[in-house]
Amino acid sequence: MPSKKPRAHEGPHKYQKIAIGTKGYQVYKCVLPGCNHNVQLALALNLETLCHICNTITIITKDMLIRGKEVLKPLCLDCRATRLRVREQLISIGRTPPEEEE
Ligand SMILES: [Zn+2]
Ligand SMILES: [Zn+2]
Repeated sequence: MPSKKPRAHEGPHKYQKIAIGTKGYQVYKCVLPGCNHNVQLALALNLETLCHICNTITIITKDMLIRGKEVLKPLCLDCRATRLRVREQLISIGRTPPEEEE
């Protein structure tokens, strides 16, 4: 039996912004089962992640990392566009769109 530790998963990590430690220091942590990988928010630029809706590989871009407003769950371009349309439709019928979906 090889002693090499198996990787937790194939392909890119799936990052989600979470607070760690007692000071609530925020990082992007991989949410895939068995994976403890995490990275500082500022260092997540241009990293590959999986879209939280459709699991397509997508790149973390500058506009996802606006200081203090870093996205909770990175989405691919298509899913972001879809979500934007839904928000606009909700606003157009006078409803308040939810902040972040689960
Ligand atoms: Zn991972
Ligand atoms: Zn997507």
